[in-house]
This record gives sequence, structure tokens and C-alpha cells, in this order.
Amino acid sequence: MGKYFGAHVSAAGGVQNAPANANGIGAKGFALFTKNQRQWHAAPLDDATVEAFRRACESGGFVPQSILPHDSYLINLGHPEDDALQRSREAFFEEMLRCQQLGLDRLNFHPGSHLGQISIDRCLDRVAESINMALDRTQGVTAVIENTAGQGSNVGFDFEHLAYIIDKVEDKSRVGYCIDTCHAFAAGYDLSTAASCENVFALLDRTVSMSYMRGMHLNDAMKPLGSHVDRHAPLGEGTLGLDVFRYIASDARFDNMPLILETPDPERWPAEIAMLYDFAAAK
Ligand SMILES: [Zn+2]
Ligand SMILES: [Zn+2]
Repeated sequence: MGKYFGAHVSAAGGVQNAPANANGIGAKGFALFTKNQRQWHAAPLDDATVEAFRRACESGGFVPQSILPHDSYLINLGHPEDDALQRSREAFFEEMLRCQQLGLDRLNFHPGSHLGQISIDRCLDRVAESINMALDRTQGVTAVIENTAGQGSNVGFDFEHLAYIIDKVEDKSRVGYCIDTCHAFAAGYDLSTAASCENVFALLDRTVSMSYMRGMHLNDAMKPLGSHVDRHAPLGEGTLGLDVFRYIASDARFDNMPLILETPDPERWPAEIAMLYDFAAAK
């Protein structure tokens, strides 16, 4: 219970190594890739790996609600071309299945890109249908849509996009979202002060209920508000500043979900996590 602050840690050598890497930086939650994120396929998980991962999570004190696996960057669930879409759907299904095998309850992904070939709405329709197909073939894993910076032709930068997709997902109990602070700021949502955070999260909740929130990515931003550029900065060293992280740390709406750093310098993660826990304690 409480705040599951952590970072996207390395799973080099196997997923079973990730929990210890998280413990090593003082994290109570973590994100990981369950396979090489730059490849389409991976060997299926064997029983020994699954067992080792579950044991490592248990001994590290990590419950599924504190863990936010991230899918491969190659996957585009809104791809305008049918062959490529099919390939992405198959790969996404495999990612969901890996999470299911590992006893994890959620999978974080970027919704997709229209590549300038179809409208945003048609792209979002494809994303929703892709989620429905994956949910039909798996059990117990929630599809967690991440908001994007809106770089290039990426959809998902407007909270309305999240609402649109979730509205078209049949099983509402297995869909949710993750808000990345850098992406939201780059997309034009001002999170730079406590007062502006209050407004943005109220808007989010009106647009798509915060009961769908399944995690957060905590990143400062390199570029200004509304830049649509996805460049993360260490906490307090960017254009966003620390207020948003104080706000999240002291607000119970963000309890009991993974709150994950994707900041650029892993050397700083122990200090960043310690700072977040100080903010939570100071509320
Ligand atoms: Zn992110
Ligand atoms: Zn990003």
C-alpha cells in the first residue's frame, strides 16, 4: 500500500533479474521489458524463468500492482496497413501472454501512429479493436494505454483519445491508462504548478475517469509546454520542475499503482526515488 515509486530497470540476463535491480535503487515498484524491446519475437518464457521471476518479486516485496511492464517500441496497434497491423497485433498478444505467464496484471503501451495515411479517429478505432482482440485471447492482464507527446504521427496525446479508445473497448475491467508527465506537458497540459496540476487532473477525470489510471511515468521535460517533443529530463532539471512530483507524491489518488521514472540518467535514480519518498512523507 502507499506509493510505489520506482524506475524502468534493466532485465538484462532475464526478467528474473529486474526485481533485484529495483531493490538496489530503493524502489518499491518498477517497469521492465519482458523481452528485447527492439525485436519482434522472443523465445517463450520457460517455467524456470517464470518461477525465478515470481520468487524474486516475492523476496523483493513487489506485488503485481507495483509493476508496469512496457511493450516493444516496434508495435503499432493503429497501423494503417493491414499486414503491418496484423504483425503488431500478434506481437502485442505475445507480450500480453508473457505478462499473464509472469503473474503480472498490466501491460503499458503507446497506442499507435497513423503515419499520415489515415485520420486520427480511424487510427484510434484500430487501436481499440487491437485491444479487444488481445483481451479476447488472454486473461487477467489489463491493457494500459500511455498518453503520448504527440510527436510525429503518434496518437494518444489528447486525453480525448484515451477516452475514445476506452469507450470502444468491450471489457472495461481490463483497460486503463498511464499518464506520463513529460508527454502530457509536451502535449500542452500544464503540470508546472500545484494549481495547474489540479486543473489538468480535474480535466483528465472529466474526460476519462481517473478510476482507469493504472500507473504514472514520472519524467521532467527537456522542451517547453506544448512542444510535442518527447525528450525526458531528470526530475527538477527540466522545463516542468518539481511541483508536479510533490503534487503526485502527496495525493492519495496516485497510491497503489506503479509510479515509474524514465529519466535519462540511471545513476540518479536512487536520489530521485529518495526525493519522491521525502515528498510523500512531507505531505
Ligand atoms: Zn513514458
Ligand atoms: Zn517518453
